[in-house]
Amino acid sequence: MIVGQDILTHLGIKKIMVIISHYELIFNSNNNIFYVKSNDVSYCPFCNCCLSVKDSKNRTVINDDGRKQIYRIRRLICQSCSKIHSELPNFIQPFKHYGSEVIEPVLDEVSDQCPAENSTIKRWLKWFDDSISYIECALTALKIEVSNNTINLMNYSSIIDNMRCKGKGWLRRITQLLVNSGSWLSATI
Ligand SMILES: [Zn+2]
Repeated sequence: MIVGQDILTHLGIKKIMVIISHYELIFNSNNNIFYVKSNDVSYCPFCNCCLSVKDSKNRTVINDDGRKQIYRIRRLICQSCSKIHSELPNFIQPFKHYGSEVIEPVLDEVSDQCPAENSTIKRWLKWFDDSISYIECALTALKIEVSNNTINLMNYSSIIDNMRCKGKGWLRRITQLLVNSGSWLSATI
């Protein structure tokens, strides 16, 4: 029988990070690393308690020009449940080597100069295609939660479509909502 955390693992739900949208990137020319200085307060996706800084680690991201860049991100530890979460700035796409500004135009089918291999692009498209129903359900569940169950499902319109209509940055906005609420699925589903 699968219980508790095993269920989350079985479903591919990962609560090992938080995403921040207010931060500064400080470049150190001695080691060519961008240090991410957070201006956000994050809470544990497991128990919603406060997080404190544990240590830091490097995260490599491939940008839209195809170059790899190293970012020094913090790892935060929950003061209640002791779970550790990487603190990702919102341009980093969880479980992906490329940044969200590279992946989003591919999903929108408007990318003409993507630096990624065709096989990688196919994987992104399959990942999104496989995930889209789950993402829609997870966003709907969040909307119901924050609206105190006042959402009218009879007049339902796609939350993903609505967020995409608002323009660039929809992928990072959706990702942040799902990651910080502890609803993000790993890349391989
Ligand atoms: Zn916690």
